Amino acid sequence: MAEYKSDIEIARAANKKPIMEIGARLGIPELDLVPYGHDKAKVSADFISRQSDKPNGKLILVTAINPTPAGEGKTTTTVGLGDGLNRIGKKAMICIREASLGPNFGMKGGAAGGGMAQVVPMEEMNLHFTGDFHAITSAHNLLSAMIDNHIYWGNELEIDARRVVWRRVMDMNDRALRDIVVSLGGVANGFPRQTGFDITVASEVMAILCLAKDLDDLQQRLGSIVVAYRRDKTPIHCRDIKADGAMTVLLKDAMQPNLVQTLENNPAFVHGGPFANIAHGCNSVVATTTALKLADYVVTEAGFGADLGAEKFFDIKCRKAGLKPDAAVIVATVRAMKMNGGVKKDDLAAENVAAVEQGCANLGRHVENVKKFGIPVVVAINHFVTDTEAEVQAVKDYVATLGTEAILCKHWAQGSTGIEDLAHKVVELADSGEANFAPLYPDEMLLFEKIETVAKSIYHAGEVSAEKSVREQLKQWEAQGYGNLPICMAKTQYSFSTDPNQRGAPSGHTVPVREVRLSAGAGFIVVITGEIMTMPGLPRVPSSEKIHLNDQGQIEGLF
Ligand code: ADP
Ligand code: MG
Repeated sequence: MAEYKSDIEIARAANKKPIMEIGARLGIPELDLVPYGHDKAKVSADFISRQSDKPNGKLILVTAINPTPAGEGKTTTTVGLGDGLNRIGKKAMICIREASLGPNFGMKGGAAGGGMAQVVPMEEMNLHFTGDFHAITSAHNLLSAMIDNHIYWGNELEIDARRVVWRRVMDMNDRALRDIVVSLGGVANGFPRQTGFDITVASEVMAILCLAKDLDDLQQRLGSIVVAYRRDKTPIHCRDIKADGAMTVLLKDAMQPNLVQTLENNPAFVHGGPFANIAHGCNSVVATTTALKLADYVVTEAGFGADLGAEKFFDIKCRKAGLKPDAAVIVATVRAMKMNGGVKKDDLAAENVAAVEQGCANLGRHVENVKKFGIPVVVAINHFVTDTEAEVQAVKDYVATLGTEAILCKHWAQGSTGIEDLAHKVVELADSGEANFAPLYPDEMLLFEKIETVAKSIYHAGEVSAEKSVREQLKQWEAQGYGNLPICMAKTQYSFSTDPNQRGAPSGHTVPVREVRLSAGAGFIVVITGEIMTMPGLPRVPSSEKIHLNDQGQIEGLF
């Protein structure tokens, strides 16, 4: 087998153009680009507001089957498709999420794509980038500090210190901080209470930044965050603590989309990065809506498999931002089909057409689900060098029985030349006018019914179970005026069910709702159906042990 270069080796050899040149191709004047070095720039708020009268380009979602340890390649395909569309002469750009710093030091795996389909500068994108996560962390923790300060100086708002729901965040995997006691050490340090840290991508501030339309909307939403409750259980908001103004100041620059380029010098916005479980898992609304003004085709990615990522993209992001997607690409790999068909990870190299055929049920369910939102679908088979022709043909034959096409894509190995067929098909679908987008459920549906609708229609569950306390909490929020919010499902990404080991396309299972949380600022209700980790830990041998600078001062061991 041929030797392939690592992602970081390929990225390092990239022939980058000055970022001003990339911006000029999109019609962004130099003065409206705020450069962060030579290869990254933020787009000014003023420029963005001047685009509002322009027509929108077509919006294409890249989503996937349920992830397996075999790897799927949504980001790689998003980047590859953006390059492929440019290659066939279309004005296209991509919108993806920023990377979370903490996980880079745990397990390998970046957020900039892979192989010949990457966004650069990938090292920076995976590390500090333009400082957005720093700003989000600071804004979040300013509110935390102001809450404890308020309690310290007399607690005029009568915050029940046992019911402070606003925690602290940092962008590091550190399990030691999950549950802690603060304010130990005497009277001068305040009132001891139990709290903890989440990772920055799990902050509601992150979700808010990614859903806010502009700075006014941002401040409104920040103000609406519920931070604590009184003894009588009435909520206390961020604006009661008077933190919303200063938080908006801290987030002013972070709100502006970051422009970078692909290996093939095509434009990409990399902006925002909310968790895909307790938040909606999509890049910012500002980046997507701006890209739609600047390009004829915008390719964007949603986190996890389509049961979570695409559903939230449609039911939260598109619903709230008024976006109307024109086509969807579902990424599948032969290896993942095999794993869904029962093959163990160590046996993936051997050809096994029967397992591929069996695993296709998972793909089929996702294809039908995405069609329920009124969006035309094409399947992208992300080619791995170990795939055999018979296995690829088995996926194509299966997808054809659903009235859909599956196209083999070799962008990882070849860049845009390997994905031209998919690019042509996506243009055909997006231009067909076939899309007739509608969210899965209406705003006015009762909250519990929304959960049942997603569970039954998307997961094919038989029923949703919940304790009385959960049902009563939902009713209380309905009475308080939160009933029209969409729900944000937090479920394992590995299965349609809540059991990560149930691969394929299970039906009739029960979805147990353990807990519900109100994200009043972001504007959704989080529905937790399993063990959801909001502060990851590091593995026994973290990748940080191998990360270092080489003799030339280059980063080694990151990917
Ligand atoms: P996702 O966005 O679905 O999480 P990524 O696109 O980030 O997945 O890809 C995950 C990893 O898999 C990356 O390191 C990438 O280099 C690798 N990868 C993706 N596609 C291929 C492929 N066709 N062959 C080999 N490795 C791939
Ligand atoms: Mg990704």
